[in-house]
Amino acid sequence: MNLRLPTHFAEGYTSPAQRARRITEPWGSENLYCCACVSDRLGAEATNNQVSDFLCPNCAERYQLKSQRKPLGGTILGSNYQKMLDAILGNRTPNFFLLHYRLPEWFVHNLLLIPRFAISPSAILKRKPLSATARRSNWVGYQLDVGLIPNAAKIPLVVNGAEIPCREVREMYSRIAGIQELKPAQRGWTLDVLRCVESLPGTTFSNEEVYAFEAELAELYPGNHHIKDKIRQQLQVLRDRGLLTQPKRGIWQRV
Ligand SMILES: [Zn+2]
Repeated sequence: MNLRLPTHFAEGYTSPAQRARRITEPWGSENLYCCACVSDRLGAEATNNQVSDFLCPNCAERYQLKSQRKPLGGTILGSNYQKMLDAILGNRTPNFFLLHYRLPEWFVHNLLLIPRFAISPSAILKRKPLSATARRSNWVGYQLDVGLIPNAAKIPLVVNGAEIPCREVREMYSRIAGIQELKPAQRGWTLDVLRCVESLPGTTFSNEEVYAFEAELAELYPGNHHIKDKIRQQLQVLRDRGLLTQPKRGIWQRV
């Protein structure tokens, strides 16, 4: 992977957003690879103004590249809120590559992959509707909150300017890939419980320790009145997908 972005593609463009897209799209075609199979290339697809889309010629996984000059910890601007939620439930979201480039060198500093099946609806935050006088007055956008994605589903390809070997990237992808066997409507709960257990200090923990997230989860799922039962059920789901082991009843271990 060449971490130097091809800035000559931006010659003649002045808007920073346009320049970034002109530069990162050809870079993606040359350098991005499929994390779900062995394909070392992705094909560029027809694009719109905000994002670059890629398709694996081998397994047909879709990818979207979003780039920014800010570090990747916070929120990423998305487009239409309802369309995104429908896409999650319809299993039509692309995998997201999130690229943080450093200026003025135009160097790829960080690159993360979020697998398409690992985007919980709770990580999609609704933005304020556009004002009534705006051209698209009923249009509501979203932000993707990267902090609400489980760490296991934030797969690093480049960390602080250093590339992670492709073999390790694909291993990390396959470790979380069991989530895609779940129905899209069920994945949100599983991902949110995974994120909670990842934030516990130890790798071995009890049911009670996870119950500490009851209030937080109740806020995300106000319609559910049996949060503890749901937590236990989701711990079993995570175990069955190979993300946890259960050394004994009520005790869990992160893999
Ligand atoms: Zn592929």
